[in-house]
Amino acid sequence: MLRRHGVRETANRLIVLKALASEKMPVSLTELESSIDSIDKSGIFRTLSIFREHHLVHVLEDGDGVRYELCLGGDGEEDDDVHVHFHCEKCHRTSCLDGIPVPGVKIPDGYERRSANYLIKGICPECAGKS
Ligand SMILES: [Zn+2]
Ligand SMILES: [Zn+2]
Repeated sequence: MLRRHGVRETANRLIVLKALASEKMPVSLTELESSIDSIDKSGIFRTLSIFREHHLVHVLEDGDGVRYELCLGGDGEEDDDVHVHFHCEKCHRTSCLDGIPVPGVKIPDGYERRSANYLIKGICPECAGKS
C-alpha cells in the first residue's frame, strides 16, 4: 500500500499504517497516539503529514477536530474512495457512510480542487435507539 502511493517504507510508517488499518472509524491524533506506544505524538503527526501528501489518508474536520482515515482507493492520482461521513451530535462519533460517494460539485474556472469533505451531522442509529 505504501509503495502504491509512492511512500518509502520505514518501521514507523508501517506502525502508523497498521494502526489506521485496524480502526473502523476515522480517528483523531490523540486516539492514534493512545494506540501507538512506540512513536511520540510529533512522530505520528509527521507520518500522517507524509501520508496526506501522498493521498494515503483522508483528513476530515467534524467540528470536534481533525480526524484521519486510510484512503482505500486510487493510487494517489485519482481518489475513488471519497465518501460521505456522518457525525453524531450525541456520542460525537464520526462514521463512514461507505458506498455513498461525495456528490460532484462543479467549481469555477481558476480554482484547483485538492480535496473535498462532505459531512452530515445528526443523530446516529445507536443514539436514536436509546432515546
Ligand atoms: Zn451517536
Ligand atoms: Zn470514511
